[in-house]
Amino acid sequence: MQNNGKKAVKKAVKPIRVGKGNGCPHYKKCGGCHLQNMTYPEQLKYKQIKCIKLLGKFCRVKEIIGMENPTHYRCKVQAAFGRDKTGIISGVYQSSTHKIVPIDECMIEDKQADEIIVTIRKLLKSFKLKPFDENNMTGFLRHVLIRKGYYTGQIMVVLVTGTSVFPSSRSFINALLQRHPEITTIVQNVNNKFTSLVLGEKNITLYGDGYIEDTIFECVFRISPKSFYQVNPVMTTKLYGKAIEYMALTGNETVIDAYCGTGTIGILASKNAGKVIGVELNADAVKDAKFNAKRNDINNIEFYTADASDFMVEMAAAGEKADVVIMDPPRAGSDERFMKSVITLSPERVVYVSCNPETLARDLKYFTRNGYGVRKIQPVDMFPHTEHVEVVCCLSRKK
Ligand code: SAH
Repeated sequence: MQNNGKKAVKKAVKPIRVGKGNGCPHYKKCGGCHLQNMTYPEQLKYKQIKCIKLLGKFCRVKEIIGMENPTHYRCKVQAAFGRDKTGIISGVYQSSTHKIVPIDECMIEDKQADEIIVTIRKLLKSFKLKPFDENNMTGFLRHVLIRKGYYTGQIMVVLVTGTSVFPSSRSFINALLQRHPEITTIVQNVNNKFTSLVLGEKNITLYGDGYIEDTIFECVFRISPKSFYQVNPVMTTKLYGKAIEYMALTGNETVIDAYCGTGTIGILASKNAGKVIGVELNADAVKDAKFNAKRNDINNIEFYTADASDFMVEMAAAGEKADVVIMDPPRAGSDERFMKSVITLSPERVVYVSCNPETLARDLKYFTRNGYGVRKIQPVDMFPHTEHVEVVCCLSRKK
């Protein structure tokens, strides 16, 4: 698609039409997929134009990478359990409420995961187990979380319960496994707090290892009930592939992987780098990252639990240097302390992975005013039917 032309932008950005959605019967109540009223090509165009409007002033925006089959892509599926006039129901909370919209099949969720949730609901009835009631904090099953390793086929079922007592747990697990032999591990997670968080602190492994593994390119990653892991594995390989391409590593570079989560990008990059330093605020994610590095026999990577800005300020003050910085901040983007320190470290290249083009535009303005030029901008459609768009951006130091 041609960009930077103001006329083209005006013509293509149409207000969202109110329609029935792409055949999804839950569209109006659920509120999860804001772009359902557009065809998939229209959605891609909408996201492309949004990126051009926000980022086109920095550099040509490449054509968004869309999904070949933009349905059932989510490999992390969550369902809340409750009750209505018809009996036990499972589904998603209507936006900003705790009212459950009953859903058996969602067009963006993994099909196997949805089938397992329906089976669990039926089993509850036959085992006389009650769904949890948030109002008086009684009952048993609050949520079911399913995570699937797309490339390994491994499936983890997490039963989030209001009590740690699980009556007839063995027979329940056997009945579930009989109906779904594809399940590789089952975990009970106890959440007895009055909270909107899905998962509680305590995990009890009822079957299998208590975690699953999945692969990205040639690396293996462990996914535990609480681990952060990208939810759309097909597009994750496209996104990470671009990020690694833009890093243009030759084997000797010192790379900083900032906001590194469980270390996925840094671990993939480490094969072609001299040394990788990962920094991440969440201590659990860092624990997973260290484990993942070992699991893949990688010795040239170190992970630190710290605020990315504090960490970079310290590195800059210590006179350290980096050749490449890859940054993947949350929706709020980065901050001036972080970017100022990046400039002091003066890497040849900065690769910015963003889940919010608005904050990316703000941060690119800072970088371009301080010695860096934007060379490539690649939007990737990680979340079809929703309004979110991911962008990988390559900057390099001006000569
Ligand atoms: N690159 C990873 C994770 C990206 S999500 C991946 O692709 O899987 C963004 C990450 O930034 C989260 O893991 C979040 O915990 C982390 N984060 C948020 N604020 C941070 C901060 N101030 N300093 C460091 N990490 C932070």
